Amino acid sequence: MVYAFFISHWMLCVLMQSLFQHRYAAHRMFTMGPRTERALHLLTYLIQGSSYLSPRAYAILHREHHAYSDTEKDPHSPHFYKDVVRMMLFTKGRYEAYAYEREQPEPRFRGGYPEWPLVDRTLAQSWLMTLVWVGLYSAFYVAFATSPWQFLLLPLHFVMGPIHGAIVNWCGHKYGYRNFPSSDRSHNTLPMDFLTMGELFQNNHHRFCMSPNFAARRWELDPTWQVIRVLAWFGLIQIATPQRAVYPDPRPQQTGEPTHVEIQTA
Ligand SMILES: [Zn+2]
Ligand SMILES: [Zn+2]
Repeated sequence: MVYAFFISHWMLCVLMQSLFQHRYAAHRMFTMGPRTERALHLLTYLIQGSSYLSPRAYAILHREHHAYSDTEKDPHSPHFYKDVVRMMLFTKGRYEAYAYEREQPEPRFRGGYPEWPLVDRTLAQSWLMTLVWVGLYSAFYVAFATSPWQFLLLPLHFVMGPIHGAIVNWCGHKYGYRNFPSSDRSHNTLPMDFLTMGELFQNNHHRFCMSPNFAARRWELDPTWQVIRVLAWFGLIQIATPQRAVYPDPRPQQTGEPTHVEIQTA
């Protein structure tokens, strides 16, 4: 029971991060009506709980990552830190600067992400709500754990979002294979990415950052893309950007494309 809960929470948290914070908020790869957006926003908070990430702060940080990938201005390049914990702590500081609006980003990184102050600030930044989530996860373990060793998994639930971020940012820019040459050091870590639902196709994603399917070769599989197809088939979302990522590279001479679709706001 505890393992089923851990695996489900892991998969759902990283699916929502890939779908909502990454592909929707940061890149605008698809659109949806305002009510669907609110429902997905709330669902993301309920699933991610104590480790929920503000879509606005995530989007700004992530657009910086694409613009300055693996340079000193990258908010989380593994090539500038001795270990993954140091990289995580630095990224946390950058994230909080935007989440608490202590700093303003370059204007080109702003806009087009969903904002809901009740969720992103009142609930997500409340210590009381963090304690409620920690209490709920702990209560589940107290009720269903069958061995004391299982409690070692419990703290991972508290900070699951940052753990997923650290795996993707560290491994995806260090380990694996490359399909496309690029100035950054992005890699595809797993050919079938069930660990982070497609996020570890960093090399494909950096080369074609607006392609909604992160897989490019016949034997690569991006689980979040399969979810996007189902949501689009039901009419809940509309895919906004064409799939350009294919292997071999159809336009090897071109480099770079905008990291997100600019949304006109009235
Ligand atoms: Zn990356
Ligand atoms: Zn991205």
